[in-house]
Amino acid sequence: MSAAARHFIDGAFTAGSTNRSFENFTPVDGASLGLVPEAGEAEVDAAVGAAKAALSGPWGAMAVAERAELLHKVADGITARFDEFLAAEISDTGKPKSLAAHIDIPRGAANFKVFADLVKNVGSEHFSMPTPDGTGAVNYALRVPKGVIAVISPWNLPLLLMTWKVGPALACGNCVVVKPSEETPLTATLLGEVMNEAGVPKGVYNVVHGFGPDSAGELLTRHPDVDAITFTGETATGEAIMAAAARGVRDVSFELGGKNPALVFADCDMDKVIEGTLRSVFANCGQVCLSTERIYVERPVFDEFTARLKAGAEALTPGVPEDPDTKLGPLISAEHRAKVMSYYARAKEEGAEIVTGGGVPDMPEALSDGCWIEPTIWTGLSDNSAVNREEIFGPCCHIRPFDDEAEAVALANDTPYGLCCSLWTENLSRAHRVSAQMETGLTWVNCWFLRDLRTPFGGAKQSGIGREGGVHSLEFYSELRNVCVKL
Ligand code: NAD
Repeated sequence: MSAAARHFIDGAFTAGSTNRSFENFTPVDGASLGLVPEAGEAEVDAAVGAAKAALSGPWGAMAVAERAELLHKVADGITARFDEFLAAEISDTGKPKSLAAHIDIPRGAANFKVFADLVKNVGSEHFSMPTPDGTGAVNYALRVPKGVIAVISPWNLPLLLMTWKVGPALACGNCVVVKPSEETPLTATLLGEVMNEAGVPKGVYNVVHGFGPDSAGELLTRHPDVDAITFTGETATGEAIMAAAARGVRDVSFELGGKNPALVFADCDMDKVIEGTLRSVFANCGQVCLSTERIYVERPVFDEFTARLKAGAEALTPGVPEDPDTKLGPLISAEHRAKVMSYYARAKEEGAEIVTGGGVPDMPEALSDGCWIEPTIWTGLSDNSAVNREEIFGPCCHIRPFDDEAEAVALANDTPYGLCCSLWTENLSRAHRVSAQMETGLTWVNCWFLRDLRTPFGGAKQSGIGREGGVHSLEFYSELRNVCVKL
């Protein structure tokens, strides 16, 4: 691919001036993908300055329809360079090509089209009112961009989650400075080329690379000319960013961690449950914020469910992204694998029954430096075990039986997180009744990760602040200003 990881500032690629860089490794076999420059104060300042300047340039003056047309060109540009985006994403993440080709890259393009179309049709509000002198007044609200938006994104779905924020931000007329995850710098860089090819004015889309604390992420969130911060990542990182956002009272939109439950009732369609749960636990090697890590199964079907999920997990062949038979990629990094393995060790110490997995698979010699891990299922741990309470973010889950609906609801909600849940039942009344009791931003019934981009997406409790998707994104990426005119 033509874009090695470089900063993209004011429409130009640069290695910056810090003389600091870090190496980007693929988790498939540990090979180096090259050096990534680390931004310092000068680069972050330049990127924020370019974004601010672009707001008062042609971008700020552009009609909505023209802006929308440019964003369609960006989407088409991603599609035209599909194979390059795919190659960049799979070398950064190691995820199966089939997954990235089906989800990550198409959604990266769709995120521009959906919001470009939405803003063209969004209205505003107006109210007439009487005045004491009888002439009256009218009020109308102007929808204006927030300004410079900092976009801080994670590594698990790099292009998809970054464009999920950049798409609506630009559609609303903002300019952005993106700080992609240090683990996955490539697709954000490549998108800079597409922005230039599409004719997006310089300064509208900027990228700075680096880490979080004491690096590009922190410098960006602290920058006084950043007007709002949108972040996807861990809850603890969200707390640090919220503290930075407090200075200057900047708005935040947070999509954070989860410890998502699935409830399997005895009246479920077991074939559907197994197919859906294999995806919800193991897709992307369990590295999806929406992944299921806690499964509660009604006692009469507990043994059948556990046996069938075990069989499905054991059929997930690990392998290189390009192999069409690969069902499971590696974890993102050696550091993350060490974290996930620490939970595998803990489950063992606490006496879990290991239904399957628990270790590292035997891989061919050429892949032995990759971050491979076995899909793992446990039963028998206490509800208070860290394995059942903390987000692991790996290909693993704990299964526990329950005896009635009330118990299932209580178990599912017994967590500080509230991102999503899956309910599996063929009883429609039960589905609605239980959905209403779930303390989660998203509830799926007899499915998982089925997404209409117009619907509100976000987490309850410690899984997030705010909702993005459809018109809900416009609430964060634009501001309503009321004008009152006395007639
Ligand atoms: P992370 O919080 O470690 O990092 C996310 C981003 O924040 C990275 O770009 C990182 O460099 C940056 N960062 C870290 N510390 C920072 C700081 N102090 N200031 C500014 N930036 C900082 O998360 P991750 O490990 O990349 O991603 C995995 C996490 O993301 C999981 O917890 C997962 O649940 C969550 N996630 C949530 C959603 C959602 O929609 N709710 C979606 C995907 C991932």
